[in-house]
Amino acid sequence: MVLSKTSSSLRNCFFCGKQVSSGQGTMLVKNDGTVQWTCSNKCRKNLRILKRDPRKLKWTSKYVKGGVRVKK
Ligand SMILES: [Zn+2]
Repeated sequence: MVLSKTSSSLRNCFFCGKQVSSGQGTMLVKNDGTVQWTCSNKCRKNLRILKRDPRKLKWTSKYVKGGVRVKK
């Protein structure tokens, strides 16, 4: 079996990093054409409305232990 690397059917949630299966999740298209997939309303809300940093939230796979170092 050959696994193709196309991202048409497999996407990862832009916020929490979880895999979003086709037919699920919400696609957000930004003004610059960037497509962001979110797996749930929770992620969508955190990304768009609350504008949280997923690296600071423990329930995302993007969480950075010890906090995020901010460049000056
Ligand atoms: Zn998510």
